Amino acid sequence: MSLEAKKSLGQNFLKSQKAIYTMIDIPQISNEDVVVEIGPGKGALTGPLLETGATVIAFELDKRMIDFLSHKFEEYITAGTLQLVHQDVLDVTIHEYTQGKPYKVVANIPYYITNLILRTFLSGDCQPVSMCLLMQKEVAKRIVTHDNKESILSLSVKLYGTPKYLMKVGRQYFSPSPNVDSAILFINNISRNAIRSDVFEQNFFTLVKTAFAQKRKQAIKNLQVIRERSFWEGVFKELSINSSIRAEDIQYTKWLEIVDRFDEKDFT
Ligand code: SAM
Repeated sequence: MSLEAKKSLGQNFLKSQKAIYTMIDIPQISNEDVVVEIGPGKGALTGPLLETGATVIAFELDKRMIDFLSHKFEEYITAGTLQLVHQDVLDVTIHEYTQGKPYKVVANIPYYITNLILRTFLSGDCQPVSMCLLMQKEVAKRIVTHDNKESILSLSVKLYGTPKYLMKVGRQYFSPSPNVDSAILFINNISRNAIRSDVFEQNFFTLVKTAFAQKRKQAIKNLQVIRERSFWEGVFKELSINSSIRAEDIQYTKWLEIVDRFDEKDFT
């Protein structure tokens, strides 16, 4: 059976033991955990995850990998601690597999669906406790706002959890080697606690996306498609935000306050 990497599926197999053990140690994976792995590939992470005694549910789109792993981890499948699912992770109803139990995501993800994976797991009804993800380094840095600049992506992640940049994993630690370096991002404290209501969540995304529509413009100029300038000037003044600020310079906690004010004013 040929297991040649398929570029179209984002297959870059991990070779770094340090990265593998960091991804298991930081979320403190133990025999009490249910772990969801996205894209187990040839099992570089799956094996060490299973060795902790955790129960692993792994979603893999490539049938060749499913067949390979079914043999490789036969004893874990028989013992009931590994479930291999041949399906697109973006199409699954996660609680049907986790049966409502708390779970952690640990994965070297296919980079072409990074944003969709984050959105599906973070904003879904059945959120994980934490996510430890190997992703493109630049994306991980953007999420933790290394340069102090927020983005739609960084704000969307912070709404649901606390992201932390753990370590760089150079391109040489993958086979085949991708064109870019990677990094491990740990998202902890995942919850919906910051979300006051359904309308708050909706407004958060509407306002953030609108304010970033033309990144180089002032946030208020972009927001004027929703409400008039004087409205926003009033809100920004109340919150001590400079009215000429760009969206990327407004910190996450200020965004929560802006959305709160928008909610209040909209319904009075
Ligand atoms: N975990 C392995 C490792 O670390 O060596 C493989 C990681 S590789 C970057 C990504 C894996 O995700 C591949 O095995 C690929 O087939 C799988 N994959 C790609 N798209 C997927 C999807 N939509 N749903 C589930 N798995 C997917």
